Amino acid sequence: MSPLKALGGTSDILPDEADRWQKMEETARRVLKLHGFREIRTPLFEESAVFTSSLGEAAEIVTKQMYLFEDRGGRKVALRPEGTASVVRAFIEHGLDKSGGLTRFYYMGPMFRAERPQAGRRRQFHQLGVEVFGSASPYQDAEVLLLLVRLLKGWDVRGWVLKLNSLGCRQDREAIIEQVRAKLSPHRQKLCEDCQVRFEKNPLRILDCKESRCQELSFGIDVSTAVCGACRDHFEKVSRTLGRLKIPFEKDPHMVRGLDYYTRTAFEVIHGGLGAQNALGGGGRYDDLVELMGGSPVPAVGFAVGLERVLMAQETSSGAAQGAVADRAAAVFVSTAGSDITDGLQWVELLREKGIPAVANLEERPLKRQLEQADKWGFQWVVIRGEMEREKGVFVVKNMASRSQEEIPEKMWLNVLQKRLNRS
Ligand SMILES: [Zn+2]
Ligand SMILES: [Zn+2]
Repeated sequence: MSPLKALGGTSDILPDEADRWQKMEETARRVLKLHGFREIRTPLFEESAVFTSSLGEAAEIVTKQMYLFEDRGGRKVALRPEGTASVVRAFIEHGLDKSGGLTRFYYMGPMFRAERPQAGRRRQFHQLGVEVFGSASPYQDAEVLLLLVRLLKGWDVRGWVLKLNSLGCRQDREAIIEQVRAKLSPHRQKLCEDCQVRFEKNPLRILDCKESRCQELSFGIDVSTAVCGACRDHFEKVSRTLGRLKIPFEKDPHMVRGLDYYTRTAFEVIHGGLGAQNALGGGGRYDDLVELMGGSPVPAVGFAVGLERVLMAQETSSGAAQGAVADRAAAVFVSTAGSDITDGLQWVELLREKGIPAVANLEERPLKRQLEQADKWGFQWVVIRGEMEREKGVFVVKNMASRSQEEIPEKMWLNVLQKRLNRS
């Protein structure tokens, strides 16, 4: 049988790359804790209604990209295409919408979308997201952006651009849609096929279209002019606060984000090093979503960041990738040529108890072969205890980088090696 392969749009993360992932995740958890966020873990699949009811039936994620299937009980199930809907579902299910007060969640993990795979677009990809429930304050929006900027800084991502817009409240939505329809209706026939449909179902999404003719036709439409006074004031406060916090941003009256649930503030972080899929992440306010999904009215704001894209942006930002030397799995290899392999297993246990990563030789083979293997695997230190060493009552400790080695009396080898490791 010919060897099996991973499905298109999915990938294996091998250990050297996994080291970079872990570093990125550790940085994220540290920063999130600093900002008072706690982790929530929701299932990777949900009843499909969780997503259709929140993202909107017309959203592209729902119509074209969701992995939908019937489980054995005939239930309609979907692999989660994004994180917010599940978090809101859990928030309501556990009665947190009734508790009042402020809740700060983050999540990190795989999402699934049946898209045509390309650079920066995978069918299984990973997102980090945050959701803050219980505040409608514009200062909360600014504070969430402060967190986003601190994450990017912690990940050593430079050269990003933050784009900001206001999509208005529920009451403004009709006016905004009317404005878009009025501007585009004379040119309706010139829109792309998808946008012809969007014109009826969801005209705001035309502003998102990647087709250049649609972009040209919708050029100059400013959704923020159609929002009400209160929303304008909210947006003004967000912008002013970002200015005072020295967070650079650009107003983009055209940016509407892919999803229906956004209200008021919407934002996107783009990065030039990512190619056509240039968004590192985005988010905004979704003041109606908790109520829409059957909970109490609780205002909320959040964002999600694509972690594969963060790694790509790190590569194209100067220095970051080169600085990330892969950590080796273990520091010490214990070689046992001519002595009992079981003894070797006991010695590595002594090392591990002291917190020193170590692996023992497990094969019956000559010392030379063992050292070659240790070199290949990248061990920094090798402890040698062969027949000769046993007769002399010593252990040999060898530094693989400098090729220097020393004989240590057997009672002292552990302490001496520990000292050498602390120095290296
Ligand atoms: Zn409004
Ligand atoms: Zn279009």
